[in-house]
Amino acid sequence: MKILIVFAHPEQKSFNGAMFDTTIETLRKSGHQVKTSDLYEMNFNPVSNRHNFTTVQDHSYLKLGLEEIYATKHNGFINTIADEQEKLEWCDLMIWQFPLWWSSVPAILKGWVDRVFASGKIYGGGHIPFVSGKFIGKKALLSITTGSPAAYYVPTGNYGDIEGILRPVHRGMLEYLGFSLLTPQVNYSVAHLSDQDRKDLLENWSNRLENLFDEKQINGGRY
Ligand SMILES: Cc1cc2nc3c(=O)[nH]c(=O)nc-3n(C[C@H](O)[C@H](O)[C@H](O)COP(=O)(O)OP(=O)(O)OC[C@H]3O[C@@H](n4cnc5c(N)ncnc54)[C@H](O)[C@@H]3O)c2cc1C
Repeated sequence: MKILIVFAHPEQKSFNGAMFDTTIETLRKSGHQVKTSDLYEMNFNPVSNRHNFTTVQDHSYLKLGLEEIYATKHNGFINTIADEQEKLEWCDLMIWQFPLWWSSVPAILKGWVDRVFASGKIYGGGHIPFVSGKFIGKKALLSITTGSPAAYYVPTGNYGDIEGILRPVHRGMLEYLGFSLLTPQVNYSVAHLSDQDRKDLLENWSNRLENLFDEKQINGGRY
């Protein structure tokens, strides 16, 4: 299988960094092809603007969606974006490794989505969102860490259920494009665990990765 891992944490020695390394190592050992987008290491610019394009249709008024369609037709994305789009199209499974920040993805990852998921190229262009998205047949999995404990992420907890927190990403970004979802890997309150408990989490994750392709898809928030 071809697997893309998108990593969004500014510190390589963090627990997220350890999850990222474990993912690469385990999947390669199992014989999978792995590509990565280590967004901080790449110094990925999350700001979506004219600089996304090498060629622009309308110089007087920027309408990103229209320029994305134009760039799709004229091979007009800058290399940084075109390379990421190519990885997205290449993979059978995409894993995002990130810490939950303000109940969402870190800005660098949101910016990656804003710039890479371009109209005409990644969505639209005859594909119906959710129903016949371009990425139907591909899988996606969110692997996240939190600061707060699991008890905060149940329906009666301070944040509400974790499925609700992840819904904008699961439904609004990934299922929108046609990706099928696997159960998110949520490691709660990692900084407050013992070293041994964190090592156990890494081992459990590695074991899960070895059998990932037998897992059934989940529902990202359809009612
Ligand atoms: C801007 C911001 C917004 C936030 N918003 C939220 C929020 O909305 N909700 C929420 O719940 N939390 C929130 N947090 C907290 C955040 O989610 C956690 O700090 C983060 O998930 C912890 O993961 P980490 O990788 O950064 O942990 P780290 O603190 O880097 O690591 C935890 C521990 O693991 C150790 N470790 C590293 N590698 C290994 C290894 N191989 N084996 C064993 N131990 C290892 C590290 O040394 C460290 O002691 C926020 C934080 C920030 C900065």
